Amino acid sequence: MIQPDRVVQTTCPYCGVGCQIDLHVKDGLLYRVNGRFDSPVNRGNLCVKGRFGFDFIHAPDRLTAPLLRHDRGEPFAARHATTWDAALDHVAGRLRAIRDAHGPDSIAFLLSAKCTNEENYLVQKLARAVVGTHNVDHCARL
Ligand code: SF4
Repeated sequence: MIQPDRVVQTTCPYCGVGCQIDLHVKDGLLYRVNGRFDSPVNRGNLCVKGRFGFDFIHAPDRLTAPLLRHDRGEPFAARHATTWDAALDHVAGRLRAIRDAHGPDSIAFLLSAKCTNEENYLVQKLARAVVGTHNVDHCARL
């Protein structure tokens, strides 16, 4: 049996059940996921998403840099890769301008099951504490 370089304990990001998982990593590659037996939520069990749904981590076509769209009004306009600092400055500037012009409830945050629960928690804090809106939703709520 392959011995992992490290095992990372975390929460399955796919739905609100919150199963606890161990990520087995070797040579920088996530090669195995198992449910934790000490978790009262799942007692070592996982559904198919939690067990096998992590191919996206090493997908060759995964985005590795933020993309900035040239024309905001055109959904299929060309995009170019940029730095995280430039992308975050752009998003922060646009959010501030929209909030100032139309109020905080003109903005909504739709979170992703491909992020960790901790990352989703931080985004809802950003929405509520910084932008000032409770318009927060998540695809896993379905
Ligand atoms: S393993 Fe399945 S049931 Fe458990 S949190 Fe993930 S998606 Fe939900």
